[in-house]
This record gives sequence, C-alpha cells and structure tokens, in this order.
Amino acid sequence: MSVTATLYNNCDANAAPRPSRRSALPSTVRRIVIVGGGSAGWMTALTLARSLIEQGVEITVVESPAVGIIGVGEGSTPWLRGFFDSLGIEESEWMPECHATYKCGITFDRWSTKPGFESYFHPFASMLDNLTMTQFVHNTDARVNGADVYAHPDRFFIASRLAAKHLAPKPAENFPFDIWHGYHFDSVLLGRYLHKKAVERGVRYVTAHVTHAKLDEQGAIASLASKEGLDIGGDLFVDCTGFAGLLITQALKTPFVSFAENLFNDAAIAMPTPIGRTVPSETVSTALKHGWAWKIPLTQRFGNGYVYSTQFCTPDAAETELREHLGLLESDTPARHLKMKIGRVTKHWNKNCLAVGLSQGFIEPLEATALLFIQQTAAVFADFLQRGDLSEAAHEKFNAQVNEHFEGTRDYIVTHYKTNSRTDTDYWRANAANLNLSGPLKDLLSLWMSGKGIAPPVRQQSLGKGYPVFSWYSIMAGMGIFPDPAALRAPQGKEAAYRLGDIDDLLDRSELNYRDHREVLGNIPPRRKSDSLQVYFW
Ligand SMILES: Cc1cc2nc3c(=O)[nH]c(=O)nc-3n(C[C@H](O)[C@H](O)[C@H](O)COP(=O)(O)OP(=O)(O)OC[C@H]3O[C@@H](n4cnc5c(N)ncnc54)[C@H](O)[C@@H]3O)c2cc1C
Repeated sequence: MSVTATLYNNCDANAAPRPSRRSALPSTVRRIVIVGGGSAGWMTALTLARSLIEQGVEITVVESPAVGIIGVGEGSTPWLRGFFDSLGIEESEWMPECHATYKCGITFDRWSTKPGFESYFHPFASMLDNLTMTQFVHNTDARVNGADVYAHPDRFFIASRLAAKHLAPKPAENFPFDIWHGYHFDSVLLGRYLHKKAVERGVRYVTAHVTHAKLDEQGAIASLASKEGLDIGGDLFVDCTGFAGLLITQALKTPFVSFAENLFNDAAIAMPTPIGRTVPSETVSTALKHGWAWKIPLTQRFGNGYVYSTQFCTPDAAETELREHLGLLESDTPARHLKMKIGRVTKHWNKNCLAVGLSQGFIEPLEATALLFIQQTAAVFADFLQRGDLSEAAHEKFNAQVNEHFEGTRDYIVTHYKTNSRTDTDYWRANAANLNLSGPLKDLLSLWMSGKGIAPPVRQQSLGKGYPVFSWYSIMAGMGIFPDPAALRAPQGKEAAYRLGDIDDLLDRSELNYRDHREVLGNIPPRRKSDSLQVYFW
C-alpha cells in the first residue's frame, strides 16, 4: 500500500480554532511558559494556543531583549502548508507579509560528476506523479540492473518542469491536480507575523532575560529567574532558546547525541543578493569546495549562504569562496557567520520541560527540515496533553517517535554526501569514504546496489524512515548511482516498457495550466475546494 498524505481544505479564516477532540487535559496544567521568541517559540505557542487557551490554560512567551533570533531558515517542506491550514490562515494573508514565495522543490547542482547527472531536482509530490512514478521507478530499477534506459528524475515530474520555467505550483481552477508545494520566506518577518498572530489569539508576551531555571526536589523546573528580577512560575516549560538550550541542556542536563561523525558541516555564512523581475520557484543547492551554497528566492531579495565544515576550511576562506560564487568579491555586502550544533538531545520531553527548535537538535539545512521538526514536535505534544497522558511511558513513546524522525531525516541528508562523486577536495573525498552510516542506511544502499528495488522496504517503513519512496529514488537516480554507462546493455523484454515521449506529452499538456510565479505572487489565490486531495508518496 502507498504512503499518502491528505491535505484537508480546512482553511476557514473566520472559524474559531478548536480542540480537535474531547480533551482530557490534566488539571495540573494551567500555565505553560515558552522561553524564546524565534520561529520555534511562536510556532509552538500558536499550536498549543489552538486547543488550550479556550480550556483556560495561560500560555506565555518569554523573550530576551539581549539575545536575537538566529534569523536564517528561509525554506520549508510542504508540511508548513498544513501548519497554516490548521490555524485557519490563508496564504494570501501571511505570504505577502513575509515576502514569501512558492517552492516546488530543490535543485542539487554539482553534487555528482557523473555525465548526465551533474544536476537533479528533488521534487515535492504532486497528484500528477501518480501517472509518472511507476515509469520512473520501473526505468530506474531496470537501469540499476544494467539496462540502458532513461532514468534521470527531472523528466518524470511536473514540479521540476515548473521550477525550471519559474512557474508557480498553483494549477488553473479547472485543472484538478494539486502540487504539494513548500515555501520560501523572510525568517525575521515570519517571526514577527507569528508573534502578532499568537498575541491576537491570547498568548501573553513578556520581555525578560532568563538567567537560570530553579529546580524542585524531583529535579523538574519550578520557576525561571530573570535578570530583571522576575520569578516566572509555570506547570510546563518549553525550551525554545535556540542552540543555547537554556532549560533542556543547561538546567536539566539532558544528554546530547552529536551527528558530527555522520555530517561534517558545522558552520554557515549568510548573504543577501538582489532579485530581478523573475522569481524562481525552487531552492538551489550548489556543491562548493567544502560544503554547499543555498540560493533562496524571496519576493524582495535572494537569501544565499554557504554551509561548510570548519574541519576542512577556515571561515575567511569560506567567505571568499561564497563571495566568488555570488559574484560579490568586490562588494561590501556584509556576511553573517554562524556556528551550527548538529545532533539532537536524547529526551525532547524531559520531566516538565519540552524542547522545540534548535534547542532540541538540528540537522543541517540541506532539505530545510527544521521547521517541520518544530511543527511536529509541538503538534504531537499537544496531542499527548489533550489525551491527558503525562506518564513516564508517554515521555518514552514521545521521545522515541521524535528521535526516530531525527535519525530518518539524518540518514537521508547523509545520503547526499555519501553518494557524491566529487574528488576535488579532501572534504568531498572524506564524505564519500565515510563509513559512519546507520544500519538502516547501510541496508538501503546495499539493497539498491544489489538491484532488488527499495520501494517495498521503504514503504513498509522498515528502511529509510523520514523520507518516502519517490525521494529515495530521486536522490539515488539523480546522483547517477547506476552501473557505469560503458557496462549498460540494451534493454530486454519489459525493461523498455515505457515510452518517454508519452510522459513528455502528458507533462507538456499539464504545464499549460500553470502561470508565471511572480504573477501569481502578485495575486495569491484563495484555497479552493479541490485542494482537499491525496498526494501519493508511493
Ligand atoms: C545556516 C542555517 C540555515 C537554516 N535554514 C533553514 C531552512 O532553510 N529551513 C528550516 O526549516 N530551518 C532552517 N534553519 C533552522 C531554523 O533557522 C531554526 O530551526 C528556526 O529559526 C528556529 O530557531 P529557534 O526558534 O529554535 O531559535 P532562535 O531563532 O535562535 O531563537 C531563540 C530565542 O530564544 C531567546 N532566548 C535565548 N536565550 C534566552 C534567555 N536567556 N532568556 C530569554 N530568551 C532567550 C532569544 O531571544 C530568541 O528569541 C537553518 C538554520 C541555520 C543555522
């Protein structure tokens, strides 16, 4: 059976947010204190407020006047659409305020050196994929087994065509095939917007610099002391203090599992560049000498950055390389340097503290998954609260679930590095030679190499947790993980069952139903009835 995601058309801006089911919220939970006013703090506040405020729970966000937000993180997965839908917020409201654009997926440039595979697109799913995915998987499996058939992913998916032509993933009214798109946005504006909405919905806001947490006899958090002399009490505390992990790590000493052995990048540099009239509808990730550069289109500028490893390159050398890549060697555009802590805490919910956002962990931003972790951690926790289950067993179940999601996503990110074929620097050679792979990832790679097909085990979630079949096929085929072209033979029997021309015809006709991205952004359509759909992940 296929893994599916259902997108409900539940966006009614006038509807009062309601708890989704009969609540068994424990009477001991009356005050929730969230420390941190970055994306994590406000997304968590809005998620909890949705069901808890009308049950009399007081939710307060405490933010330091002295510590800024990280101010990067401008791409999302398609799941962010569900976040806004669940809050009843229309795209036409939030997108213009956050200079947001649509995202059809990510182009990976120069990660592979294999002829014909120097670039590929990781598409977001669309209903049209139901008509082309079988052919893609069939051809890919045949090519892994030595048949000379076409198997580059870009030709099989509508999302890659839209991105290549700067079209928006919003089909014409009479074309019933929706695309499961993501977004790009200005992270500072998004933070401000979420802040405004949360306060409108009854969340309290306090400006105070928390110095430390006071613990009770059981080692749980009793209250927070602030530099301004406040003593902030609560029943539950949410740590959204970013990499500082003020509550989860500093106060509760929750162990941290580093992913440094799997993922080498530990620093980043961010720089804006101007954007012209044409607005791309994709993120571009270009492999450089010691990492990769992102290029994210917003309505008013491009966000750019370089994610790299300080084991292999100094910050100065990385900045020079990024400036060269952007054509800014002579420019005085300021560059922001950031450190990244890659890994996760062992317990995201520890005693009466929940960690959300960078405080709970971070996998580097290659597939822009961090906001998804925030969204899911907050939503799943809200569910546990509604069920009234705060037991030790609930803690364990919750933490196991979040950890599994972290590991599955990490494995998918690691695959980009492991399958690279660059040999120009020690960085890329070390990544390709890295043997620190999880058991499930090793199994998945060896299954691919054996030509047995990875769809059934990925579908059954026994391998490759975190990403669906079409993503795994896209990365492996997109990087050109096939037998050497010289060793390929003519296809036999059913191996050549499909004509590429039929797929081209289908996508040529479908493409006519999509409009220029900039034009659509100037007049964002409301959600329509047919947006209630199922996207098959295969
Ligand atoms: C280079 C880079 C690129 C990224 N790209 C993406 C991307 O494309 N997509 C994506 O989804 N994510 C991305 N991320 C991650 C994303 O930026 C974060 O997950 C997101 O912004 C949430 O951050 P946060 O709210 O956890 O922390 P922060 O933004 O750091 O906020 C921390 C908050 O805590 C407050 N605080 C700290 N200490 C105290 C204190 N003592 N008392 C009171 N308040 C305090 C601060 O005032 C601030 O409000 C990226 C991250 C990096 C580093």
